[in-house]
Order: sequence, then C-alpha cells, then structure tokens
Amino acid sequence: MGHVFPRHTKTNLPTAVSGEGCYIIDQNGKHYFDGSGGAAVSCLGHSDQTVQEAIKKQTDQLAFAHSGFFTTEPAEKLADLLVANAPKGIDRVYYVSGGSEAVEAALKLARQYHLERGDKDRSHVIARWQSYHGNTIGALSAGGNKWRREPFMPMLVPMSHIDPCYPYRDQQEGESDEAYGVRAANRLEEEILKIGPEKVSAFICEPVVGATMGAVAAAPGYLKRIREICNQYGVLLILDEVMCGMGRTGTLFACEHDGVTPDILCIAKGLGAGYQPIGAMLCSRKIYNAIENGSGFFQHGHTYQGHPTACAAGYAVISTMLERNLLDNVNKRSEQLMQALTDAFGQHPFVGDIRGRGLFIAIELVKDRETKTPFDPKLAVHAKIKKTAFENGLICYPMPGTIDGKNGDHVLLAPPFIIQDEHIAEIVEKLSASFSSVFDTLG
Ligand code: PLP
Repeated sequence: MGHVFPRHTKTNLPTAVSGEGCYIIDQNGKHYFDGSGGAAVSCLGHSDQTVQEAIKKQTDQLAFAHSGFFTTEPAEKLADLLVANAPKGIDRVYYVSGGSEAVEAALKLARQYHLERGDKDRSHVIARWQSYHGNTIGALSAGGNKWRREPFMPMLVPMSHIDPCYPYRDQQEGESDEAYGVRAANRLEEEILKIGPEKVSAFICEPVVGATMGAVAAAPGYLKRIREICNQYGVLLILDEVMCGMGRTGTLFACEHDGVTPDILCIAKGLGAGYQPIGAMLCSRKIYNAIENGSGFFQHGHTYQGHPTACAAGYAVISTMLERNLLDNVNKRSEQLMQALTDAFGQHPFVGDIRGRGLFIAIELVKDRETKTPFDPKLAVHAKIKKTAFENGLICYPMPGTIDGKNGDHVLLAPPFIIQDEHIAEIVEKLSASFSSVFDTLG
C-alpha cells in the first residue's frame, strides 16, 4: 500500500480512474452511479467540457497569483455573477477553498463587524443541534452533531445550540406547518434572551440541513421569523448553504425559497462542482461597509483564497448551470425522483420519512414506522447500506445520528443536475436492491 492517510484506515478503497457524466469508473472498469455527487458536490457530473476547458485555459494563462497582491479577471467575473444572482442585499464575495473555511471566515467577520462598530461584548454565537458546519475547530464548535463534536469537546469554542426545525419528529399533531415554523424559530429568541442580547454576535444555520439530518428543509415561515428575531436583537444571520446552495434545492441560493436575505452566506461544494476546490463567504453591503468605513482590513485570509484557476472553474460551473437552464432540470427531476422513491419505499416497513427539496432528498430509516423508533445504533444500518449500495454500483450518502447525533439513520441523495429518466430508475433500483439485502440480514 502507499502512504496516503485515508479517512478509514481499515478499508481498502478502489482507485477512481475516470469520470463520465454521472459515473465514476474504477481501475477494474466498474461504473458507479454518483447518486450523491460525492457529498453534494458534483452537480455537473464528472466530464463537463466547458468547465474542463475553462480550467485549462486559465492554467495556460495564469495558474495562480496571490490575492494579497493582485485581483484577477476570473475572481472579479465570478463575484459579479454570484452577486447578480444572489438575494437582494448581498454585495460582496470573499473567496476561500471550501466549506469549513467559509464558515470560519463568517464567524470571524461577524465578530469583526461588531468590533468595528464598538460593540465589543458581542462575541457569542448561537447555532443549532444537529447541524454540520465543517470539521475545523471553529466550524465544529458551531456544528451540533454530537458524535462529531464529542472527541474534541475540550478544544471547542463555547457556543450555544438550540433545537433544530425537524417537522417529522417535532411538529405536533394538528399544528400547521406555519405555526410550527414560528414555534421552532422562537427558540432563538429564548436563547438570545438567556445569553443577553448585547453579548450575541450571530446565529448560524443551514436553510436545508444536509449531512447530519438528511435534507430537512426549514418549515414555512421559519427563516422569516429567524430574520425578524435577528433584526430585533442586532444579531447577524449567517446562512450556511455549503451543501444546499448553488442550485441543489432548485434555486441558485437555497434561501431564495424562503424569501430571506442573510447578513452572511457561506457556499462551497457545488460552486466548484468538484472540478476545483473553492468556497466563498458572501456578505451584505452593511457588513462590508463596517469594515470599509472602519479599519479597512478584514483580519483573516488564506494563501489560496481567490485562486484564479478555482475562480475560472467556479465561473464556468455557475454560468453553465444558468445558461443550460439546469435548475429547470433540478426541479423537474426532483419531482420525478421523489415520486419514484415514494412509489418504491412509501410503504416500506423501515422507511419513516422521505423528504427534501430539489435534488437534495433523503430517506429516514426506522425500526418501527408507527412509533418512529430508530434502529439500534450498534447495527450501523447506515454503514451497511452505504457498503452494499457501493457494491451494487451506487454512490449514496447514508449517515448515522439523524435524530440527536447518536440515534437514527438516513440516506441522502444528491445526484448531478444532468440526470435523466434512466438515472432515476437506476438510483431507485439499486437502492431497492441494497435495502433488501441489508434489511434481510437484520431479520
Ligand atoms: N457546511 C455544511 C452545511 C456542510 O455540509 C459542509 C460539508 O459537508 C461544510 C460546511 C464543510 O465543508 P468542507 O467539507 O468543504 O470543509
């Protein structure tokens, strides 16, 4: 074996050698349908020529120039394109190389915004249980997924967490979606009052929770009420769209669906679509002005921020998405996929909920549909499904800890935006075969 330090040291992985549309092909020629885009990354599939040519052209011309010395045409063009298509009020783009970096930058920018205005006590961040914001220490501190946090607890930065919006398990009998949305959002107000509004810097959440809960969208009115509460108490709203943004849920920015503009917005994954590592933190004019009219220097930065080749890839990805109207395909295929999954698993004894938005759909698995009782975590149902589906040639994204970071299993699907009828059939067929094999062994 070589010297790569893999994620799982006890597993031998196949070698991925090429990509063709929605498929990854290994050293033995086996084709894997990429039903989760890795982790909601590969939104254009694996062989988009426009993006590949844009990268080549940029490296031929200028692969890298440090952002402390230069701006570049790809960086400027991509920022203009993002702002032109962002919710009204978003005005500036700060580049990074991935999702965790975007979140780190957002947490620091929120703090610096308050400092620039002389609001020195505002340093506390409120987040939600069961969210995922990345694996670096600041982002992990904001994240609310217990099994990811626990080993690193002594190192984490103090932040507080409120319960998430989780209609399947939290909405009461007879409670309307809107009433539930407001009730769930009001937890933020309670927490702000508990901490002391003058101490709170920001609230961070994912508009549609991805990895940790499986495509759980905010209930109607939830984010509007969150925005109101943030405005009332001078708390900044950070939306983490690293997984759910960039067209994944059917609009370029996920928060467009809710009609809410955050103060700070984090994106990554689909921005580079896997062709280059790139993320960004976007912010409103108000936030930028505080820096521009204050110290004039955001005290942050990474060597590769604004990398011209990554920006050229990002520009090609987003312009391709828009020019080819791929979001129409996201919305059309979303309905088809949801219907096909409901037909196949709607009555399945171990399927509790099928949910999501756009091509961001998850299935929550349960031991008992009536009581919504989860499987014993020791059974590691998610891991068995991941392994079996992979053997069957389907890449999907099953995860543990759906309910409280310890209990519950779900399978997340996030296929490329270019999928067609036959791909939907292939996802459902392979998932169905994988469910049968795994559930048969559970008895
Ligand atoms: N935020 C969210 C919502 C994510 O889903 C992820 C990754 O899955 C991250 C942040 C971290 O992104 P990255 O893995 O690129 O650092």
